Amino acid sequence: MNIEKLKKILEEAGEPKFRLAQVKKAVFKDSVSSFADISTLSKNLRSLLEKEFKILSFDIEEIKTSGNKFSVKALLRLPDGNFTETVLLASREGNWSVCLSCQAGCPLNCAFCATGKGGFKRDLTGEEITDQILFWRGWLKNDSTRALSCPDEYVGASSPDYGRGGSLSNIVFMGMGEPFLNWENVKKSLRDLTDPELFGFGSRAISVSTAGLPEGILKLAADFPQINLAVSLHFAEDVKRSQFMPINKKHNLAALKEALRQYFLKTRRKVMLEYIMLSGINDSLADAEKLAAYVKSIGKLQLLHVNLISYNDTSGEFSVSSAKAISRFQNYLIQNRINTTMRKSLGGDVEGACGQLAGKRSMI
Ligand code: SAH
Repeated sequence: MNIEKLKKILEEAGEPKFRLAQVKKAVFKDSVSSFADISTLSKNLRSLLEKEFKILSFDIEEIKTSGNKFSVKALLRLPDGNFTETVLLASREGNWSVCLSCQAGCPLNCAFCATGKGGFKRDLTGEEITDQILFWRGWLKNDSTRALSCPDEYVGASSPDYGRGGSLSNIVFMGMGEPFLNWENVKKSLRDLTDPELFGFGSRAISVSTAGLPEGILKLAADFPQINLAVSLHFAEDVKRSQFMPINKKHNLAALKEALRQYFLKTRRKVMLEYIMLSGINDSLADAEKLAAYVKSIGKLQLLHVNLISYNDTSGEFSVSSAKAISRFQNYLIQNRINTTMRKSLGGDVEGACGQLAGKRSMI
């Protein structure tokens, strides 16, 4: 929600100063998604705001719920006609996480990721990022959909069995885009998300994921030392990493290691290293040895956690590692005292899982 614009409208309407606080409370704390529902405002002001101001900075183009109802993906149409996506994921009943996008498309073009395939469109504004949370909160509450401009047929039809009324506890910047290439806007959104006057999320409930931009890692440590960091590592040798993740040509594994060391000095916080298991590409015993050696060379083993991720199909170019390859790989890490888990993938059947966000319509 564009607070500055709202302030201006209220001022021009001659409203007293406390109105702004009233509207902010209604939107950010009570999750109303329509001004018509703010009963503390006069009828005239409600209709003026309905006419002149939109709570959300985008329209909802499509909402799709997975078969198991554990994930819901929304395609968002931005005012300039570009698209981005956001995903709501249930880790357990009534406990939701949101996967936020920070760009429309992505410039990094990692070979295994659907987002990069469509190219890069533009950075999202801070407001377009935080509005994804406002949208999901309103959606969970099953409020009026008018202000969301969400086509009626997508509401209700896609309602998960237990979803509405559950709480939204975690936020991950793992949607479209690279947070550290849009740092000013991501920073603004992190400020608003953790502002007790606005969203009021705890820093530890938020994670930012990067493909490994050293300056970004240092900025996160300086500005938000309590926010979690995840690094999409996926390969522990430069030649292979550069082949599948072009960003590695500019910022290689040695630079990433140095940034992580600085990060630990500053924050002493745990870092997640994400590692997609790609059959025949990075899942051999030799790959596990390289990964273990790299992780050990960073130091601070107790602060590093390797998250093995199963590959979500995006193009047919890669395939999922076999159970046998995964357990051989994981056992090697465990024997080498490296903290590791295999992450359960959510959202695959709505193409809302990691790496599957393409920003396109799927239903028609
Ligand atoms: N650019 C940031 C944020 C995107 S997060 C980053 O790279 O971290 C998206 C996460 O999904 C990243 O860890 C990414 O590497 C991972 N991912 C991309 N494609 C995937 C796929 N097909 N299957 C599983 N994970 C994938």
